[in-house]
Amino acid sequence: MSQPATNSRNPEPTLAQVDPEIDALIRQEERREFEKLRLIPSENYASRAVIEATGSVLTNKYSEGYAGKRYYEGQQAIDGIESLAIDRLKALFGADHANVQPYSGSPANLAVYLAFCSPGDPIMGLGLPAGGHLTHGWKVSITGKYFESHAYGVRKDDHRIDFDEVRRLAKEHRPKVIWCGTTAYPRVVDFARFREIADEVDAILCADIAHISGLVAAGAHPSPVGIADVITSTTHKTLRGPRGGMILCKQEHAKAMDRAVFPGLQGGPHNHTTAAIAVAAKEASTPEFKAYAHQIVANAKELAQALSEKGFSLVTGGTDNHLILVDLTPKGVPGKVAAQALDRAGIVCNYNSIPFDPRKPFDPSGLRIGTPAITSRGMGPSEMKRLAGWMDDVVTHHEDETVLARIAGEITELCQDFAPPGIPIRDA
Ligand SMILES: *Cc1c(COP(=O)(O)O)cnc(C)c1O
Repeated sequence: MSQPATNSRNPEPTLAQVDPEIDALIRQEERREFEKLRLIPSENYASRAVIEATGSVLTNKYSEGYAGKRYYEGQQAIDGIESLAIDRLKALFGADHANVQPYSGSPANLAVYLAFCSPGDPIMGLGLPAGGHLTHGWKVSITGKYFESHAYGVRKDDHRIDFDEVRRLAKEHRPKVIWCGTTAYPRVVDFARFREIADEVDAILCADIAHISGLVAAGAHPSPVGIADVITSTTHKTLRGPRGGMILCKQEHAKAMDRAVFPGLQGGPHNHTTAAIAVAAKEASTPEFKAYAHQIVANAKELAQALSEKGFSLVTGGTDNHLILVDLTPKGVPGKVAAQALDRAGIVCNYNSIPFDPRKPFDPSGLRIGTPAITSRGMGPSEMKRLAGWMDDVVTHHEDETVLARIAGEITELCQDFAPPGIPIRDA
């Protein structure tokens, strides 16, 4: 059966008409994102402009290749879009070269392996239990199976990156690539110290700034540009763009990185995502975004202080960035139990291993929380203090559903005053 022609008298049906089930579930998620305090440090609220670009007809277009060198015709608009995304990111980060085609952070990292390594080559990254990412060579990841991975860790006494170990392992194994970058580490990454070690063993240094790229863009975390050979990132975490990935690199690696992404690893780029990355890069170059990124860090420090005052133990004692790793051992509550009770109370975070965790990864001792999303709502120091109080009450009374329901109500009420970006106001 062919579709009836659509026109102003016979408009195309809406999502709600075509698929009420999916529409209702999307509305449910909108409501959740509005009414809860979202503390997962890798999550954020993309702006309405970013979401509009993501939900555009650009999803219909194939454009394998790069601007001016495509394998399909009809790229008049696409080339302009991809070039704008690239130029804006280069300007934002001060980078020689940018590739905006990686489908997400993990494929961006795979492209680095493809560009510089052969199967079985030695590589190094921060171990997952110490705050590293799966794609930095952890054993269950393809990156730990196809390469000879030597993980470095953090020091036992202060839980900071153990540079003596990084140097010792690098000299012993001569890695092709050294990864620096983290997913659960509350402190500044010292890119220059990694550079020294990479130079001693002639390794490619890759900084994965997936979590902190928004902070880096705004000067709220030191930049690896000019230090690392290659920089990879997601675009949807603190950078507040669409779900996607990007690679920045020195000019000498531009060709190798572009070839690794396409045709090495991927087919057609996601043009709707590329357009939204361009929008996010434009937003991130404003004074408002700069203030936002600094406020993320200020809020994290405020929250860390308030949690410490409530008797929470924090890994490394605090934070320099957007995230806090809580060790719940002194509270006598496992991370998973706490995370589930917090979710019922309207505070969404994730349970997480802490360095040298005596408990299992699926039932660890810690919680990972972050301030990017709540800061996007405009929350500040006084909300951080309230949040610490609520978290303490939930952890203390995690089995008392009356307490959890009362807090959930208070949080829903607070959230009415802090409408997040990107969520349309709808009738209930
Ligand atoms: C989130 C993250 C990634 C992976 O990004 P995906 O988009 O989930 O594939 C890679 N590296 C680090 C450090 C991350 O935090």
